[in-house]
Amino acid sequence: MREVKENVDLVVIGGGTAGHIAAIQAAREGITTSVIEAGMMLGGTMTEGGVFMPNHFHSTDQPVVQGIPWELYQKSHEIEGIPIKPSHKRRPVDTPGYYSHINVPIYATIAEQALLKAKAIIHYGEFVGEVKSVGDQWEVKSFSRGIIRTTIAREIIDASGDADGARAIGLEVEKAPKRQPGTLEYRIEDIDMQQVWQGEVQALYEDAMKKGRLQKGDWAYFDTYPFLWLLQMGGHNSTHIYGCDTSDADGQTDANIRGREAMLRMYQFIKEEIPGAERAVLKTMYAKALSREGYRVIGEHRITTEEFMNATAYPDQVCHAFNYIDLHNEDTGCDEIFHQSEKMIPKIPFRSLIPKDSSRILVIGRIISSDRKSLAGLRAQCTCMAMGQVAGAAAALGIKRKISSREVPAKDIVQLTVDHGAVPL
Ligand SMILES: Cc1cc2nc3c(=O)[nH]c(=O)nc-3n(C[C@H](O)[C@H](O)[C@H](O)COP(=O)(O)OP(=O)(O)OC[C@H]3O[C@@H](n4cnc5c(N)ncnc54)[C@H](O)[C@@H]3O)c2cc1C
Repeated sequence: MREVKENVDLVVIGGGTAGHIAAIQAAREGITTSVIEAGMMLGGTMTEGGVFMPNHFHSTDQPVVQGIPWELYQKSHEIEGIPIKPSHKRRPVDTPGYYSHINVPIYATIAEQALLKAKAIIHYGEFVGEVKSVGDQWEVKSFSRGIIRTTIAREIIDASGDADGARAIGLEVEKAPKRQPGTLEYRIEDIDMQQVWQGEVQALYEDAMKKGRLQKGDWAYFDTYPFLWLLQMGGHNSTHIYGCDTSDADGQTDANIRGREAMLRMYQFIKEEIPGAERAVLKTMYAKALSREGYRVIGEHRITTEEFMNATAYPDQVCHAFNYIDLHNEDTGCDEIFHQSEKMIPKIPFRSLIPKDSSRILVIGRIISSDRKSLAGLRAQCTCMAMGQVAGAAAALGIKRKISSREVPAKDIVQLTVDHGAVPL
């Protein structure tokens, strides 16, 4: 093993949904930034995981997340040659707001190019395993093929999705004993939907469940939507892995094995039993099984469900969190809880990104300090990306002013994100 040392201002642990935006924001402010990413591309759940649906850039009637996430989204659509329909030409029908899609290979590549152009350093295939405080610096140890890297940095942003950085330091975290189910994303194509009849495929599905050919969770929303929906989606985002916990390697292994078993069961059932699906092809399987929730860090402020549902204003609010509560579960598939009015736009207070009694570390993405139910709304990708831009700005300002990121006034953080295109609050 080669032992390597690196000195930077900021380490971002995880270049996923929230982390890649944080790193771009900090690096564009001239901060030497290193992104240590366990996978082989940026974007995490939204790219490698196959959840290519960032929600929401716009609420029903105003932009809520713009800035760096919107810039990358626009660039990626430009390369695809797909115009973005203005939101006033769309109609929010199923839920408030407007849904978006990215092309995974294009988005992951342009995100990477944006980071490199900002002069950030990327280390793929590396796991952060140890973090300790040495004076007013962090010593971050990451492990990868042939290399053990020690990175010395002033600030850390934990964007690992499972609080790996915060846990390595020994900061306080919580994890519910019963969490939302996970999912492995795949896609079955070439089903001739003209031959598919809703009543018939529903009966075939129910029969397969009775006979044990399919198992509970193979079709996640059995209690909410007809089986036809799974066929229309080609199985994408349609399965549940109960008890999924990706916060350690054993849990990850188990979730991936069970996710792939469910995928194959469903494909074989569809191909053999559904009229019109004789030529169905299992075309895409994404790299890893995903958790919807795991560890949450206990922060200086813990966002509650009541605050989220009341769209509470905070003195230190730093970005929007427009979404409904989307709580997946084993009993009903998914509970959706909507705000009283679509004009209610929840916010994120800066204190929820600061682990309790800590200094020079921020946490972003699905690990922020919140109760379980509010996280089921806060975890949307655009909100995670907006938190990323906030954390990148806070770390950059802290480093430049030679103070801890936690001491940077929220209004200065917001101003810097607005200078980089974010929506003013
Ligand atoms: C199945 C599913 C469907 C969803 N559907 C939607 C949807 O339709 N729309 C929407 O907006 N949101 C959706 N969400 C929610 C959203 O995708 C997630 O909440 C969000 O992507 C989480 O972002 P994150 O940055 O916290 O984590 P991630 O995007 O998972 O990023 C974490 C990154 O950290 C890396 N990492 C982890 N540990 C380490 C370590 N020790 N060292 C180095 N790197 C590490 C990982 O490899 C990963 O790249 C869905 C979530 C799931 C699971």
